[in-house]
Amino acid sequence: MTVKINENYLLLQNSYLFAEIANRVENYKKENPDKEIISMGIGDVTKPLVPSVVKAFSKAVDDMGVADDFKGYGPEQGYSFLAEKIIENDYKPFGVNLDLDEVFISDGAKCDTANIQEIFDINNKVAVTDPVYTVYVDTNVMAGRTGEMKDDGMYEGLVYLPCREENGFIPSLPDEEVDLIYLCFPNNPTGTTLTKDQLKTFVDYAREHKSLILFDAAYEKFINESDVPHSIYEIEGAKEVAIEFRSFSKTAGFTGTRCAYTIVPKELKGYDDNGNSHSLNELWNRRQTTKFNGVSFPVQIAAAATYSEEGKKEIQDNIDYYMKNAKLIRVKLNELGLDVYGGVNSPYLWIKIPDGIDSWGFFDKLLNEANIVGTPGAGFGPSGEGYLRLTAFNTLENTIEAMDRISKLKF
Ligand SMILES: *Cc1c(COP(=O)(O)O)cnc(C)c1O
Repeated sequence: MTVKINENYLLLQNSYLFAEIANRVENYKKENPDKEIISMGIGDVTKPLVPSVVKAFSKAVDDMGVADDFKGYGPEQGYSFLAEKIIENDYKPFGVNLDLDEVFISDGAKCDTANIQEIFDINNKVAVTDPVYTVYVDTNVMAGRTGEMKDDGMYEGLVYLPCREENGFIPSLPDEEVDLIYLCFPNNPTGTTLTKDQLKTFVDYAREHKSLILFDAAYEKFINESDVPHSIYEIEGAKEVAIEFRSFSKTAGFTGTRCAYTIVPKELKGYDDNGNSHSLNELWNRRQTTKFNGVSFPVQIAAAATYSEEGKKEIQDNIDYYMKNAKLIRVKLNELGLDVYGGVNSPYLWIKIPDGIDSWGFFDKLLNEANIVGTPGAGFGPSGEGYLRLTAFNTLENTIEAMDRISKLKF
């Protein structure tokens, strides 16, 4: 017998962005063992879980050891005690009403944004913004929804919506028919946002073309400005055309704890070959109940604690801390004459690289001359060339030190 592999995997780019970065950092460290490197690269939080979350988490773990409180398998969709809090806190205040069975609690927005495409036909045309959170692209490659990567860095068969300084990082509507559109706002990697009116043009497009928006709102809690929508469902009609992904990862420091959720409204429809409509909520429910056995009980208790009065305050303090770093980076780099985007409603800053140097070149310059690790924009897609991403996930002290080092560089 021969085991044949899924050859779509061979279409993936070999050098995974963060592996290449780690490689370059490792090499630098080997040659310069005495240098203190400040990492502003990978998008991971640096602050620990807040006390009220740890308290609830730890009590739930203890409960698991008590016969009367022990929990075995929970609902695949998640416990309603958490779904209720999600609806009450994350949607009601924005005028969005949801039913409990429209909330699917999971162990990550990464896997949800990846897995969701299983319920869609292989021939659906997919649009992504460029630069992009690479999970959307790579998982569609794995599924066989694309051809090869072309010389211009774009996969055949995918529709790219460029977001660059020239268009204010606002993607244009696709100029060909697309079925699925991935949007992530506040954006990773650019840190930029859409206003309600800008997002509405996408909702209107989707309604007109019977397409679906996969809206990743992992950074929603970092929004500060009032005209930036927190949920796509704030836009009229969006419940007919959008699935929304959220995560406790960046919001509440759950990157190592794992909890997220996905909203699949019951209004959402997909179509079969005969043109009959089917509920996407039912399909996703079928997918989850078949392939997923739910998030651990203590983790869901911990996630619910993020909505307690104390939890909310502690988490807001952490977000404020990161956003203070973001502001500091923005102001300092502006003073140095660099154009900086993001960092207002998001922990990411998207630095326009001075002329004459590309994004890997600038990455190397920062690493070698300032011992700072960023992420080259080109790693997020061809339109990321010419930019570099820095994150505010760090200590204030490191952020200050990093800006001090950058200010000594010559551009
Ligand atoms: C970090 C991040 C997520 C969160 O993924 P989890 O699996 O929930 O940790 C989702 N989308 C984007 C764009 C992210 O940057």
